[in-house]
This record gives sequence, C-alpha cells and structure tokens, in this order.
Amino acid sequence: MRDAIIQVEHLTHIYKAAPVEKRALDDVSLEIMRGDCVALIGFNGSGKSTLVQHFNGLLRPSSGSVRVDGVDVGDRHTNLRALRQRVGMLFQFPESQLFGQTVYADVAFGPQRMKLGRHEIRARVKGALQSVGLPHEEYGHRSPFALSGGQRRRVALAGVLAMSPRILILDEPTVGLDGEGRAEFYSYLQKVRIEQGVTIVLVSHDMSEVASMANWLYVLHHGRLVMQGAPRQVFARSEQLRDWDLAVPPLHELLAHLRRQGIALPVEISTVDEA
Ligand code: ADP
Repeated sequence: MRDAIIQVEHLTHIYKAAPVEKRALDDVSLEIMRGDCVALIGFNGSGKSTLVQHFNGLLRPSSGSVRVDGVDVGDRHTNLRALRQRVGMLFQFPESQLFGQTVYADVAFGPQRMKLGRHEIRARVKGALQSVGLPHEEYGHRSPFALSGGQRRRVALAGVLAMSPRILILDEPTVGLDGEGRAEFYSYLQKVRIEQGVTIVLVSHDMSEVASMANWLYVLHHGRLVMQGAPRQVFARSEQLRDWDLAVPPLHELLAHLRRQGIALPVEISTVDEA
C-alpha cells in the first residue's frame, strides 16, 4: 500500500522578523506519497520555498503540523540532524557550492560528515557518480571546474545522493542549463527515482520541467494551496492558472516542445491525445 512520506496539516507560516509580519503560508494541507515526484508551482512569492524549507526543518510551522518520514518537524525535541540526512536539498545553481579539488572529494564530503567507514564512503561515492552518469573511474579524479555546466550540476546531485536520502528536494534544478544539459538532468533524475525509490519534490516555474518530471502538481498562490492534480488535469485549466500569474502553454505545445528537446515523457502525460 502506498503511504504518505510527507503530511502537511493546516500549515501557516508567518515571518515575524520582517518589518511587517508576512503570512507566507496560510492553512496549507497536503500529502506527498512515497516514491512520487511532486511539483510545487506558483508565481514568485507564492510560498514554494517557505513550504519546502519545512520539509527538513530549516523552518518550523507557526501553526499546523508537518510530518516527514514519521518525524514531527514542529516538535522542539526532534533531532533535525537525523532528519536532514534523510532529506536531501539541491538549491538553485548548486554547482556554485562545489569546492573539492576532485569530483570524488566533492561527492565524498557529505558521507564523510556522516562519519561512515572508509569502505562505505567509497561505495556510496561510486554508486552516486554512477547514478548520474559520471562513472568514478572516468570522472572521480577530475576537477569539477573542468566539467561542463550540466556535468557540474550532476556532480552536485551526486553529492546529495551519496547521503542516501529518502526525499530529494530540488529548487529550480535546471535553471541556467542548455537544452541538452536539462534533458540529461531529467533523465538521470527519473532513473534515480525509479531505481532507488526516492521521493522527489520539485519547485519550479518551468512548465516543461514540471511536465517532464512530476506525476502530481500543487499550485500555490499568495501562500494558499489553490489547485492540485495530475499534470494533464492541471494544465488543461490554463485559463484559471493565468489568474494566478502562471503562463501555461497549451498542453500539445508543451509536449511537442519536450519531444523536440529529446526529453522522455512520463507515461501519465504522454498518453494525452495531441491532436
Ligand atoms: P516562492 O518560493 O514561491 O518565490 P517564498 O516562499 O520565497 O516564495 O516567499 C513567500 C513570501 O514570503 C514572499 O512574499 C516573500 O517576500 C516572503 N518571505 C520569504 N522569505 C522571507 C523572510 N526571510 N522574511 C520575510 N519575508 C519573507
């Protein structure tokens, strides 16, 4: 039976340090099922980042509750270190945080901090590099700075995967990459999801990205959850999405665009009649 790995109930978040209190999330309830790839979409300032920062305890609820993999994030006694090892986060332009002299050193940084044994660290680094299509034998000794933009981003992804997260949170993961880099990034991400059963939460306002990855969408507007559904249900309501400042091309155009870029489509959305 499929279970919810993230449960959000009546979550409100108010930023109190701001000059004026800011209610960034207002009574949001949602569930994310284990193994799904869910996308959060919404215009700038709609509350997407605020929401995902609750998933590894960077923020705590002002009211309501957030449970992640059985852990109550709002509980002051919760061990957030343990939670953060299970929830990997990749922020925008993650390659800017690469600093190791070699690809291997960069990917090993997380597992080393987890104080794992040498053999375990080595196995994890090799596995993670393999998952993102940069085999250790070929890339491990190279400098991350000598790689292409798309490859560097995949090194950053490998660094998160080497921690063996159960949940992967990606904030605009392909922004700034060219078409080829994006297509590769998506295909490795899909592979990781399928082979390792990782749950993925994608924050994006790129509709092609969302259509190529997610099997369920949540739409936020001014801190409220205003719509949810499978991508084709949500995209079919483009008029309504425009009311929330989301420009969504007609579904058949979106699909044609993805095909032109050589991006494999998830079964759920590719069954849509393109006529
Ligand atoms: P999104 O990720 O959808 O762009 P955010 O979650 O970043 O939205 O922001 C939601 C709202 O909260 C915005 O109005 C933003 O200005 C405000 N906000 C975000 N972070 C802070 C903060 N640290 N202090 C005060 N207000 C903030």
